Amino acid sequence: MSTTNGGSQNPWQIFRRFWPEVAPHKGLLCGGAATLFLEVALRIIEPWPLKYLVDSVLTPSLEGNYRGTHAPLTSIATLSLLYCVVISLRAVAAYFNTLCFAHLGQRVVKRVRSRLFSHMQKLSLSYYASARHGDLVIRMIGDVGLFQDVMVTAALPLAGNIVVIGGMFLVMLLLHWKLGLISICLLPALYYMTVRLSRRIHTAARRQRKLESSMAASVSEAFASVATVKALALEQTFGSLFSQGNEKSLKEGVTVQRASAKLERSVDFLIGIESAAVLFLGGWFVLEGELTIGGLLVFLAYLKNAFKPMRNYSKYCARLSKAAAAGERIIEILDAVPEVEDAPDAVVAPPLQGAIEFRDVSFGYESGQQILSKVSFHAPAGCHTVLLAPSGTGKSTLLSLLLRFYQPDGGDIRVDGLSIAKLRIDSLREQIAVVLQNTELFAGSIRDNILGGLTDVSEERLHDAIVTSQLAGFISSLSDGLDTLVGERGVTLSKGQRQRIAIARAVVRQRPILLLDEPMSGLDPESQKLVSDAIRMLAGRATILHVTHDLRHAASADHIVVLDEKRVIEAGSHLELMALNSRYAGLYAIQQAGFGECRQ
Ligand code: ADP
Repeated sequence: MSTTNGGSQNPWQIFRRFWPEVAPHKGLLCGGAATLFLEVALRIIEPWPLKYLVDSVLTPSLEGNYRGTHAPLTSIATLSLLYCVVISLRAVAAYFNTLCFAHLGQRVVKRVRSRLFSHMQKLSLSYYASARHGDLVIRMIGDVGLFQDVMVTAALPLAGNIVVIGGMFLVMLLLHWKLGLISICLLPALYYMTVRLSRRIHTAARRQRKLESSMAASVSEAFASVATVKALALEQTFGSLFSQGNEKSLKEGVTVQRASAKLERSVDFLIGIESAAVLFLGGWFVLEGELTIGGLLVFLAYLKNAFKPMRNYSKYCARLSKAAAAGERIIEILDAVPEVEDAPDAVVAPPLQGAIEFRDVSFGYESGQQILSKVSFHAPAGCHTVLLAPSGTGKSTLLSLLLRFYQPDGGDIRVDGLSIAKLRIDSLREQIAVVLQNTELFAGSIRDNILGGLTDVSEERLHDAIVTSQLAGFISSLSDGLDTLVGERGVTLSKGQRQRIAIARAVVRQRPILLLDEPMSGLDPESQKLVSDAIRMLAGRATILHVTHDLRHAASADHIVVLDEKRVIEAGSHLELMALNSRYAGLYAIQQAGFGECRQ
């Protein structure tokens, strides 16, 4: 199984995980930080013109020191201008730091999404077997977006504000150390309350995010199987499941809101007490002549500014918690380790002929489980080999092992004598074409679906693929021919048509190995004949490994491998197996009696 080691991480750990995406944009980070520090410095300077106005101009003026001169007016004008310059500069610095952080956030999110997507593509099928697709989409799009949004609009400015608070308290201590100490003394209480309540918010926000994602997964599953839901009248079941999820999410949302409101109001309350204490003691110090009126004004302005980030933190706490939860969910995916990876010494596969050999291959999807036990057989190069076994025996599993979707628990699989475990996975898969039981098409034209991203295919090669897959008649009956659009997942086509498009897709690739996984199952007799004609036309062009539980396709094959009870029980040509007069011959006789049409 692919593994994850995600869990609760603190914001710093989360940030560190995304550092590789931030590091290439050091310019933007430094620009943002520099303008942030400038803004901080200007915020610290901001109340000082007021102090000078009160202490050096207004008070002496009211005391009559400037009577008959224009000095106070000039000073007032100068200080007002200075105030205006400080505020304007601060606005410019704030603009640039928002801009830098917003750009940084956008770039980082782009890189995180790309990294996440390419990592997800490397994950093994076992990961996808246990993951919910809707949840993955939410993580990929919603969580990454939310993480970036909150980091840029809340976390980075808040981090900057910590510097503001530090700077302001330092100046307060220098200005009047007693009042400074009184201002600081409530900080531990604020810190304690914030940490305690924000933990609660964080837990509820994480649960809410999980529930929202699970709801999205249910919705996507209900949409994906809308026909089954309708046919089985499961609308109400899905509806009530959705409502339950919705209800739970609402409850968590209320918990988050309640804790946030409590935090916000508690912070307000403490700030109120603190401001009253500073106002009272500050007033007293002014009366005692220990502090000037201007000094008290600076103090009050600083307190107001210093407490703003704390208020903001309590306001943003729920969003920050959701972002941290989103970050954790992204990290959970990034931490998932692909079960099957290239060996360190893996080499690029040479052009293959396609002689396939399974040697004592054992496998189970879970530990302790055994689906295949020491399976050994070979499929000669260029031949059509049929793997025959009852459903659920492990035929498709064998193909998955050959494609290296999973790692065998024991034994070895070889192609042209080379162990596939020693070949680069992409170079192996590039030489294999597959037609599955249920073909899913992509939204686009029939041409797009056959070419599937190939760009250098000649019209002759495409035409050959269409003829070989028995699609020519069908395509010419369409007014737009090859350019006819098919719905997402091919819903506008019949299963037989989809299967033949899949065969054309395989043929056009001209790969030496072709894997067919019960491509005719569930088809009507007419479609079965068309598909089976298509397969017959492929004979000799590639090594075909065809899994089926239907004997009618076996008789015409070059080689037949019969599996049962987790292992190969007999193998050979139709005639050889008939001569053995064992399992295959017995089944063939029954089928002959039942259908009377084994050979196609
Ligand atoms: P066949 O192709 O012969 O019908 P499969 O290879 O699809 O059989 O499956 C063999 C067995 O493995 C079945 O019992 C099936 O339930 C189980 N199986 C198949 N895929 C998975 C999976 N992804 N996880 C766990 N068990 C699986």
